[in-house]
Amino acid sequence: MTVSSVHIIATSLEELRALDKYELDLKHRAARQLAVDRFMVPGMLTDEQIREIEAAGYTVEVISDLSQVAAERVKEVSLVNRFVEARGITEFEERAVLGYMTADEVESALINLHTLHPDLVTLIELPNRSWENRISRAVRVRAGTNTDRVGVLFTGSMHAREWGGSDICITFLVNLINAYRANNVLTYGGKSFSATQVRTVLENVDLFVFPDVNPDGKKYSQTHDPSSGQSQSFWWRKNRNPNTAVGSSTLGVDLNRNFDFLWSSGIGTSSSPSSYTYKGASAFSEPEARNVRYLFETYPSIGYYVDIHSFSGLILYSWGDDNNQNTEPGQNFFNPAHNGKRGIPGDTLYREFIPTLDENTAVSLANRMSDALTAVRGQSYTVQQAVGLYPTSATSDDYAFSRHIVNGLSRNVYAYTIEFGQEFVPPFSEMSNIIKDVCAAMSELCWAINSDAYVRDNPTDTGAVPSSGPFWNSPDVWVRNAEDGGTTHQDTVRGRDNFVYVRVNNRGQAEARDLRVRTYLANFAGTQFSYPNDWIPRNPAGGGSLGSPGTYLIGQAQIPTLAAGSSQIVSMRWVSSLIPPALNWHPCLLVEVSPNGGPLIAGNNVWDNNNLGQKNITIINARRGEIVEFPFVVGSTFSLISSGDLVLKRIRAPRAVGIFLDVKDPAILGTLRPSLTVVPSTVSVQPVAEVHPIGTVATLLQPTSVAIPLPAPWRGASDESLVLNLPANTRIEIRNSQVERMVAPFRRPSLISGFELVTLQDKPLLSLSSLKPGRIRLPIKAGEAKQMALQVVIPKTAAVGDRYEFQAVQNDRSGHAVGGVVLEIRIVA
Ligand SMILES: [Zn+2]
Repeated sequence: MTVSSVHIIATSLEELRALDKYELDLKHRAARQLAVDRFMVPGMLTDEQIREIEAAGYTVEVISDLSQVAAERVKEVSLVNRFVEARGITEFEERAVLGYMTADEVESALINLHTLHPDLVTLIELPNRSWENRISRAVRVRAGTNTDRVGVLFTGSMHAREWGGSDICITFLVNLINAYRANNVLTYGGKSFSATQVRTVLENVDLFVFPDVNPDGKKYSQTHDPSSGQSQSFWWRKNRNPNTAVGSSTLGVDLNRNFDFLWSSGIGTSSSPSSYTYKGASAFSEPEARNVRYLFETYPSIGYYVDIHSFSGLILYSWGDDNNQNTEPGQNFFNPAHNGKRGIPGDTLYREFIPTLDENTAVSLANRMSDALTAVRGQSYTVQQAVGLYPTSATSDDYAFSRHIVNGLSRNVYAYTIEFGQEFVPPFSEMSNIIKDVCAAMSELCWAINSDAYVRDNPTDTGAVPSSGPFWNSPDVWVRNAEDGGTTHQDTVRGRDNFVYVRVNNRGQAEARDLRVRTYLANFAGTQFSYPNDWIPRNPAGGGSLGSPGTYLIGQAQIPTLAAGSSQIVSMRWVSSLIPPALNWHPCLLVEVSPNGGPLIAGNNVWDNNNLGQKNITIINARRGEIVEFPFVVGSTFSLISSGDLVLKRIRAPRAVGIFLDVKDPAILGTLRPSLTVVPSTVSVQPVAEVHPIGTVATLLQPTSVAIPLPAPWRGASDESLVLNLPANTRIEIRNSQVERMVAPFRRPSLISGFELVTLQDKPLLSLSSLKPGRIRLPIKAGEAKQMALQVVIPKTAAVGDRYEFQAVQNDRSGHAVGGVVLEIRIVA
């Protein structure tokens, strides 16, 4: 039977997608739009299938006779195992030019790499044997003793006929290890990595390589002689599951449709065992797919993943099920409310959420791989979102990238599929060139992730996470009234454009590239901003004008390159229409810098993700004698952290300035003092002398009587008062007349310190009476948010121009600051 490599042409996207009903062997991810009314997908069709499709109105262009191709390629498979001896691996380059590796050779090569380099190479025997009872192995390669590493996983030959993935993986390992051993430059055509770069990679990165995911399939493909009418076997794609358990006589599951990402959705998969994209009986039904999962589960440091396939010349990044979007976090694969709406790329009904930080990182690293690949010999691979024209589900790359969303404790894994070359099995002479191309891309990825851009949380922050100390006043973020390059913060001036400056630092050993800095105006409603939700602007493209308080994009800046250990400052115009009014806003600047990199796990808070920055710019203008109210939210509905306590502190304010915490929730007050009785009382004092200059403390110079009107329950018909006779030199406090003390003391000092309970304008408040910080325990769970407020009583004795500053810090249960707010007040009249 003749099998041909073809291009199927359709005149519309709908027509192209309608091809799915014919159960053809299509190269979906390589589909392209050639013109307004010309859509093309490559495929592998029998003569009979070509006739059927042409009859249905499609145009079929025959590229080559694959029976012929198969007959040529099968001669390029070694008949003997070239790597049975460890010695073979040292002469690897000479031996490998002889042709494609077999499944047995891949195993021998891994074992012998370990034998030759036991200090660098750890052999990982994977727990699941293939259907034909083969043991699969991966290796971990590392040098040195650094324990703070990020892992990169490469997998090859998941699809049986895509042989070259294994050859790429083994060559990559051998060349990298040889260069490290010899302290040599690593060269692929026009692309080189210095000995220092090689050393940096091996000493800071954990390399995981699983070169032959589907050994049964490779063996089946390589041992079927196409000249004896077995060319379809030669072009086998799936694994070798006999499928008898599902009552089928057709073999094989498409491993790259068997992963647990929207597996049930059926998007781009088939439930029919005879299909090329048969997804299996259940997610991870296949031992080969479970072996890949095992690596992610066993080595949680893995933060990058590349699955190597052929063909098309593509570098694909997530997602594959639908077009990406950055503005609707609820529209995500994990939300069952959208079941049935996904998988139609190009529509607006559903698009898959990806935070801008992640999308920029995915694209930036893909571009670095693509550039390195081009440098080898001028090949050009297209970087694009995996969805392309056909959506997919249950693929390895999206599974890897979805893990941290399904399980918040998993690391974020940036995942790629590389589709090398222009045919499934290129002639080995061309494959040798492709191996260099892809190895350069893989090496570049391993190098690039050693960059680590960050924005400091405070002056002592080195970019390590979690940072300690305040994080809400980044020294790397400031405002200028003009674009004058000044490096000190100025108060925002309304009615004109201002400029936001951001300093980006690179703490890594590699140059960072294609950095994108986004600055947002946020309403400082809370102590705790959570990524990505609080970084999603109401004006996604920037510009426009402000509506109600919320998050708005001020602007974006790019830094093409940032050398290791260096810093660069960028500025963004803050248009006057996006400068908030004095009322109802408590503005704060939020910053995100991509790409993400380095060994650190990125959290969703400013303090545990060094790519995020925050600067509180709330300033309240006040008059003497006024009471200023500052509402804020403690906790966050997006947060995974339970609160421990809240600490209120005067940064700059004399005792005369009354500061009160209004916790609002009676339940919280109740936990502080379970049997609270509010008994208001008024104190009148006279005569008073020698008033303390600040006005809060007085000393009686002579014996004095103080009359306190009795509260209602005790007051009879007459105007009886409680009279206190105080001796001379009694020290009394004079408080703002609006403040009244509670009669009953707190009973549970472990839950509260530094505060006393008072009433101000009939509200129970916690007064910070001393200069020391006050602390209360907060019974706030993860995902819970509580509205609270600060009340500041400005003394009548304050002077115009006085500035006061207060800080409220929210700690988690181990005392680490997870939220914070600074309130600055200026006396203007
Ligand atoms: Zn493939």
